[in-house]
Amino acid sequence: MSAGDEVVVALDVGGTGMKCALVRPDGTTVHTERHATDAQRGPDAVVDTILEVADGLAGKARAAGRTPVACGIAVPGVVDETRGVAVWSANVGFRDVPLRELATTRLGLPAALGHDVRVGGLAEARLGAGRDAGHVLFVAIGTGIAAAHVVGGSAATGAHGAAGEIGHILVRPGGPRCGCGRDGCLEAVASASAIGRRFTELAGAPATAAEVADRAAAGEQLAGDVWRAAVEALADGLATGQALFDVATVVLGGGLAQAGPLLFDPLREALRERLTFHREPRLVAAALGDEAGCLGAALLALDTLAKESR
Ligand SMILES: [Zn+2]
Repeated sequence: MSAGDEVVVALDVGGTGMKCALVRPDGTTVHTERHATDAQRGPDAVVDTILEVADGLAGKARAAGRTPVACGIAVPGVVDETRGVAVWSANVGFRDVPLRELATTRLGLPAALGHDVRVGGLAEARLGAGRDAGHVLFVAIGTGIAAAHVVGGSAATGAHGAAGEIGHILVRPGGPRCGCGRDGCLEAVASASAIGRRFTELAGAPATAAEVADRAAAGEQLAGDVWRAAVEALADGLATGQALFDVATVVLGGGLAQAGPLLFDPLREALRERLTFHREPRLVAAALGDEAGCLGAALLALDTLAKESR
C-alpha cells in the first residue's frame, strides 16, 4: 500500500446526528455518511452506535483498498482530550465515558477524542477561513455559543477540558436566564435560539433567528431591535475575546453566520467601537460548513499519530 491510500476514520457526534467520513492526511474526504444519534436511547446505546459506525467505516476503507491509520471522534460538552474521556455532555448524556480507549480497543487503531467546537476551529484554522493566520478564534453560534482558540495549528483545551466557553461570558447582568443557570450570559442573548426566543416573546409569533435578520433588514422595528441587541452583545463578547487572545482572525461559524452581511457588517462596526488599543481582528465567515467537525477530528487523530511516532 502506498501512503496515498491512508485514511482516518472520523466521526462528529452531535445531539441529533453523527457526521462521519474517511479523510486523507491532506484533508480531502473520500467518503461521507450520516447516522442518527438517537440520544434519548441513553449514553451506552450511543457509545455502541459510535463504535459500530467507526468499525464499519474502517471496514469500508479496507474493502476499497485503503488503509485506515487512525480514528478521530468529536463530541460536544466537556472533553478531556489528554485522557480521551467524554467528561460531560448535556445533549448526548455522556458522563466520564473513556471513548478513546473504547475506540482503540474496538478498531485496533490509535484514536483521538476531541471537543466538537475545538476540532471545528482546528479545521477552520488549518484548512478553512483561518488559513494563513497563526492566531485564530473560531466562534460557533447556533443553539449555543462556543469558541476555539487556535495558535500555530493547535487548539487550547484548558486545564479541565472546558476552554473556549465564550457563550458564558457575562454580558448582560440580570439579563435572560442561560442554560448554565446564570442570568445574562452571551449565549442567552445572542445565540440563534436566543434571538428567535426573544423575538417570539416580544412579537407573540414565532420566528427563527434567520427570519429575524431578514425582517430587520426589511425595516421591521421590533426585529431590528432584537437583532441589534444580539449584535451588540456579540460585539461585547468578541471584544472580551480579543482582549484575552489578540488574534489575527475571528472565524464565525454555526447557523447564525449564514446571515452573512446582515450579521458581519453591523458586528464589525460594533466591535470596532469597542476596541481601544487592541488591534481589530479580521472577521470572516467559516469556510468548511458542517464538514469542519469531521475534518478537525481527523486532524486531531493525525496529530496524535505524529506525536506517538516521535
Ligand atoms: Zn451561561
